Amino acid sequence: MWQIFFDQMDKISAFLRIIRNCVDLVENGSHIHSQEVTGLGSDMIRRSFFAALAFAAAMPLTAWAEAPLKVVATTGMIADAARQVGGDQVEVKGLMGPGVDPHAYRQTRSDIVAMTRADLILWHGLYLEAQMEEFFHDLGRKRTVVAVAEGVEKSKLRAHDDYADKYDPHVWMSPVLWRDVVVEVQKALTEARPEEADIFAANAQVHLAEIDQLAAYGKQVLAAVPENNRVLVTAHDAFGYFGAEYGYEVLGIQGISTQSEAGLNRIGTLVDTLVDRKLTAVFVESSVSDRSMRALIEGADAKGHDIGIGGELYSDAMGEPGTYEGTYVGMLDHNITVIAGALGADVPDRGMSGKLSAGF
Ligand SMILES: [Zn+2]
Repeated sequence: MWQIFFDQMDKISAFLRIIRNCVDLVENGSHIHSQEVTGLGSDMIRRSFFAALAFAAAMPLTAWAEAPLKVVATTGMIADAARQVGGDQVEVKGLMGPGVDPHAYRQTRSDIVAMTRADLILWHGLYLEAQMEEFFHDLGRKRTVVAVAEGVEKSKLRAHDDYADKYDPHVWMSPVLWRDVVVEVQKALTEARPEEADIFAANAQVHLAEIDQLAAYGKQVLAAVPENNRVLVTAHDAFGYFGAEYGYEVLGIQGISTQSEAGLNRIGTLVDTLVDRKLTAVFVESSVSDRSMRALIEGADAKGHDIGIGGELYSDAMGEPGTYEGTYVGMLDHNITVIAGALGADVPDRGMSGKLSAGF
């Protein structure tokens, strides 16, 4: 950013130097009587003046708008999409860090300050940020606020278990659906800064190609799991789109929102399923307490059936910022590799591109 600023300052000071030279020539020229220098002087004035005009024309009008677009995004996944598509043209602040549960999150005082200073606010929608729903509807009257997951075609969405009129919001679990969200982010950035449309389009193409590669990797390694083992038992029902995409049965202890309490009945039914089907691995989530998962393992243990934790998955939040798992592609690469590995497939040691932090 500073480089752009200094470049512009250089251009402007060069422009001012030319103007000053013109003024000097006019002032000095007025004291000169002799015929022979007047011609030379006026020619130099004219040339300098045209040089100054040419300089001014060469300076793009947008020079002063080069400060990055300030974007605030609710989830880490949306913040990552904005960074990938926006590149150097955006400055992104994500509100929800690693381990934060978006179903329960409420805006803090500093979040509100960041949003009032932002040029663009991106939230997920589809009732994911259930506690902030009203806040965003109010904010939308004063600021540019876009619910990026609401742009996904409704026919591609799953029904919500808990609310008849709502959809399952966990669309990032399917790379194919997440593509649509990335395109929505691109649209929102382009509308906010149309002069950078080409840059956003080029960045989006690169990122979408990575997502396609991720989708293909998922298909390949998850299909290598023996068919009987293609069951994903997790703390809450975040993996519905994942299951639909890769042909896995998904059993969550809690419903689609983490706000519903897991009943004892539900745990009892799941224990029976695990025992009957001889399933041996369940998964914990980085943004949900593993309390009910422990109850499940103890329940199976009491029936003489041994269950292990297959690994920790990123369900509703990504890994640490600055790490591969702290990006959307890294988050899903981790989930796909951990799930396929724990359920019996041969997986590459460090995932799709050798970048995962732990070997498998
Ligand atoms: Zn969730």
